[in-house]
Amino acid sequence: MHILLADALFTDGTILRDHGIVFDKTIIDVSPNDTLRSRYGEQCTELGEGSVLIPGLINSHVHLEFSANRSTLTYGEFMPWLSSVIAARDELVNECDDGCTTRTIEMMLSNGITAFGAVSSYGFDLEPCFKAPQKVVFFNELIGSDPMMADALYGNFQERLFASQELKREGFYPSVAIHSPYSVHRVLIQKGLKYAQDKELRVTAHFMESPAEREWLDSNSGAFAPFFQNFLKQTQAANTAEEFLSYFRDVPTLFTHVVQASDKELSTIAEGNHTIIHCPISNRLLGNGVLDLKPLEEKTIRFVCGTDGLSSNYTLDL
Ligand SMILES: [Zn+2]
Repeated sequence: MHILLADALFTDGTILRDHGIVFDKTIIDVSPNDTLRSRYGEQCTELGEGSVLIPGLINSHVHLEFSANRSTLTYGEFMPWLSSVIAARDELVNECDDGCTTRTIEMMLSNGITAFGAVSSYGFDLEPCFKAPQKVVFFNELIGSDPMMADALYGNFQERLFASQELKREGFYPSVAIHSPYSVHRVLIQKGLKYAQDKELRVTAHFMESPAEREWLDSNSGAFAPFFQNFLKQTQAANTAEEFLSYFRDVPTLFTHVVQASDKELSTIAEGNHTIIHCPISNRLLGNGVLDLKPLEEKTIRFVCGTDGLSSNYTLDL
């Protein structure tokens, strides 16, 4: 059991002066410091002048494998950024070893983040996430729009997912990330979601992050067109936005960004009981626009905040 006495304690929207907390795994008591001092005496830890106790923060969306980035990537617009990620991907991922990932996790802890959602593209961050002191939702990412490659890519995804499922500790949740509507073939999406549903795993997906994604999914044109043509010989989007959302009908999902979603898509998100992950700094650095919170309120769509990775933010401090 621990007893912490602080100058102030923030709970349920209220600031309580000279209050402390008694807890082990859960909170046992919140009381004035004098009460706790007389009850527990020497067992109390005085946090001192200016100390504030607040609930742990949750960073719901990070990409730890890209934590080596400081100034390698191009900001300002989504497509130049994505191209710079693809060009520097190997270098950045190789530069971030377990020590780099662990330091990034520690940085989050020092910023009050006691739980985070890590989207893992390669599984290189598995070990540090498993050893982290925080609660971790470990999202193994499924990606691949080329049907010819579907089996191989699904096999690679399964390998990473199974490896994370073998590691067991309290507060570590192996989960599934579907990369995005433009990058994952429907066969893969449906397979991944079926597995997640069967095993009751949490699910996340990027959705409607950039104006370029909007244009590509709506009309197979815009800045994504030459990108897909050059990299994958693809002239048509892997899914329309509507098709993509329909696969998630029965799987409550954490959709990340959703900045460019239409009113109809937001209604579908509300009907599906989904949640939005809002990463405002990432959206700003990549010039993707601003998430309008008003329709979210009107449609009673829940949203939580995230920083996104150091690939599109300068800090993981919420
Ligand atoms: Zn992301």
